[in-house]
Amino acid sequence: MTIGERYTEIKRRADEAAVRSGRNPSDVKLVAVTKTHGAAEINEAIAAGATDIGENRVQELLEKYDRVDPVRWHLIGHLQTNKVRQVIDRVVMIHSVDSLKLAREIDKRAAAAGITMDVLIEINSAMEETKSGIAAADLKQLVTEITEECSNVRVCGIMCIPPIAAEPEDSRPYFREAAELFEDMKSWELPSERFAPTELSMGMSGDFEVAIEEGATIVRVGSSIFGPRNYR
Ligand SMILES: *Cc1c(COP(=O)(O)O)cnc(C)c1O
Repeated sequence: MTIGERYTEIKRRADEAAVRSGRNPSDVKLVAVTKTHGAAEINEAIAAGATDIGENRVQELLEKYDRVDPVRWHLIGHLQTNKVRQVIDRVVMIHSVDSLKLAREIDKRAAAAGITMDVLIEINSAMEETKSGIAAADLKQLVTEITEECSNVRVCGIMCIPPIAAEPEDSRPYFREAAELFEDMKSWELPSERFAPTELSMGMSGDFEVAIEEGATIVRVGSSIFGPRNYR
């Protein structure tokens, strides 16, 4: 299958998972994750209908940015504060905010660019040491602080990456927990210009259908669309 065909197939499966769980397919956004893949491959996915592209490293995003057809870029990987400036006017959403320090830097750069940046807070569901993200228990405090301090940041929800799973079903408890946290978040009374919890970003190639069944509004799918990654 070509990249375009695979994109279409994944989109169809995502739509079906939404319908199966009583949701509207248009309520689930498919972000095509392109790390290690080149501009020509990304453009194939765009030609097949991809509207949203996810990169997890700033350097890679910058290398491809000008060579890829107009599309919405998402930064989905760990972001260092000293790299924020380079992506602030190129991405529509940063999925991986996990500290007030990072949010402050995003705020500063967004203000300078005259924009408000949409961000998600990354939750480390299983508290794995190798992963970034905060504990669920710390979410409310971090979001409260960000909304108090950062006038050019809008917290739009949460992102999570469960532990690597042998079976898609293994991810379900983590997705369910994230969905509960997300539901709870919706009841928090924080200023609406800075807090609009509409997005739950979870699910990758191996488990995106389970994630959708559990309420994901954004799934991030890479290898099932673009094939295996060869890290340089
Ligand atoms: C690479 C990556 C994905 C996509 O992973 P696949 O298993 O290739 O679909 C999703 N989210 C993040 C944060 C990633 O780094």
